[in-house]
Amino acid sequence: MTEALQCIGCGAVIQTEDKNEIGYTPKSVLEKGMESGEVYCQRCFRLRHYNEIQDVSLTDDDFLRLLNEIGQKDALIVNVVDIFDFNGSIIPGLHRFVGDNPVLLVGNKVDVLPKSLKKTKLKQWMKEQAHDKGLRPVDVLLTSAKRNDELDALLDMIEKYREGRDVYIVGVTNVGKSTLINQIVQKTADVKELITTSKFPGTTLDKIEIPLEDGQFLIDTPGIIHRHQMAHFLGEKDLKIIAPQKEIKPKIYQLNAGQTLFLGGLARFDFVKGEKSSFTVFVSNDLMIHRTKLENADKFYEKHLGELLQPPRNDEKEHFPELERFEFSIKEKTDIVFAGLGWVTVKDPVVVSGWAPKGVDVITRQALV
Ligand code: GDP
Repeated sequence: MTEALQCIGCGAVIQTEDKNEIGYTPKSVLEKGMESGEVYCQRCFRLRHYNEIQDVSLTDDDFLRLLNEIGQKDALIVNVVDIFDFNGSIIPGLHRFVGDNPVLLVGNKVDVLPKSLKKTKLKQWMKEQAHDKGLRPVDVLLTSAKRNDELDALLDMIEKYREGRDVYIVGVTNVGKSTLINQIVQKTADVKELITTSKFPGTTLDKIEIPLEDGQFLIDTPGIIHRHQMAHFLGEKDLKIIAPQKEIKPKIYQLNAGQTLFLGGLARFDFVKGEKSSFTVFVSNDLMIHRTKLENADKFYEKHLGELLQPPRNDEKEHFPELERFEFSIKEKTDIVFAGLGWVTVKDPVVVSGWAPKGVDVITRQALV
């Protein structure tokens, strides 16, 4: 019997048939890889070499089974979220499955936050949001998988809370879970040991196990696709535009009531009512912002979407959801948060509205800066 070959990046069983399924590797690459004994699936290969994201399709049933299995274990659960997309990166129903297991909440991508931002406020907000969703994390930690910040702190914290148990790392796709795991692996394990993978029972999902010193494991689970993430409405190129790669430079706009800001074609911010005021936009430095009159904004959007207002691109706008409007009456300094995109800080008592593609949240929080 031949053993199924597994990707040394994510542990998926290598297959050469279906591009869109987990573990796909082109035949030619597979042959070369067999010689060296190291095979990456195409997804991991692109990720490692080009920082490109490829989603694999996983069924909801598989997720439920995965979560179920984790719930039945006595383990520490490390939930990695994207601080830029908190709502988009919460795993629906996670709290129902974790049972009595402790959850450590890790907010990743802290490197893109402007220096002026108060990290303790962000952690406090994450805690509150988690509570709102029924999750009671034992601790909250901020990391940058890219810059390797706080990795030691994370490992110490894992050690503190796992108390001799296995550790499951869970997260939705795009939060940086693989990048973080790679960092952990480089620090703690011999890469060859990682090939130890197995399936979650009853699923098509593979887990990758990183041995810990006391014979327990750190278990990387497949990324879960959250359909309400802004990222899922966009192609890879656009994802690079909206996901901040570098420290965000806040942009300040002096606006009068009746003015609108378009964040590419992805979101819209209207200053509805109030005295002239300044608004600070925190989004990826590569996302174009356009100022226009509120009264013309609908027409402007219709006319320029896919061109002046992009992403989405012209050939993507067909499938791009309509923007939905949320109105807010602001009393104190507040962030209007567009899930997955960023936020606008409003400092005076005014009425504003935020628009995002149907399904993506626009919420308010006490200003972090
Ligand atoms: P996964 O789907 O959760 O495994 O996420 P990946 O590890 O594939 O990362 C998704 C994207 O986020 C990639 O473009 C990464 O380069 C980027 N990324 C991951 N970690 C960080 C981080 O700490 N900071 C920043 N700025 N980007 C990150």
